[in-house]
Amino acid sequence: MSLVYQLGHSLYLNITNRCTNQCGFCVRFKNDCIQGYNLTLGFEPTAQDILEAIGDPACFQEIVFCGYGEPLLRLPEVLAVSQFLKEQKVPVRVNTNGHGNLIHQRNIVPEIAPYISAISISLNAENEAVYNQLCQPSFGTGTYQKVKEFILECKPQIPKVMVTAVALPQVDIKALKQLVEQELGVIFKVRHYNDIVQEEKYGQ
Ligand code: SF4
Repeated sequence: MSLVYQLGHSLYLNITNRCTNQCGFCVRFKNDCIQGYNLTLGFEPTAQDILEAIGDPACFQEIVFCGYGEPLLRLPEVLAVSQFLKEQKVPVRVNTNGHGNLIHQRNIVPEIAPYISAISISLNAENEAVYNQLCQPSFGTGTYQKVKEFILECKPQIPKVMVTAVALPQVDIKALKQLVEQELGVIFKVRHYNDIVQEEKYGQ
């Protein structure tokens, strides 16, 4: 069981296996491991557990909340760890499904923004029907709109905001790119399913 895993010069934090989506393409449903790291957790680590697993943060160019689950389900731990890393001057990125405000029923962006340098939000679809089909969000109807609102909240508050999608046959990547770049005005990153399986990327 790995709380952290290193890929290149970045360290990734695997802090929960829970998620508010059930994406059909999610690697956690197919494989316990990424590049030899077993990301299936026997327990959810405390902030102290995570900091101990990180060790010396100065060894890494970036530390990323990205594991087999949605990190913003564990907001207090994300905040505690990010605050410490900010003090150590290590850039922090959060990879999320964008449900943070739905999960906590308030706007959490001002809480996380002071401590993170980048956020990567998986939108995955050019409209709600495709999103619901691919991601099966537990919040149901309206989730897609809330993810778009979350992206717009992040845009003025977090230095780098990226929106991602997995290149699947059901997705109109051209329409989604246009939506992300023109309507939302942030960076769009498309990812290929084989890369997700082979690399660190598991869907967010
Ligand atoms: S791909 Fe990401 S958002 Fe989708 S179920 Fe897996 S962890 Fe959750």
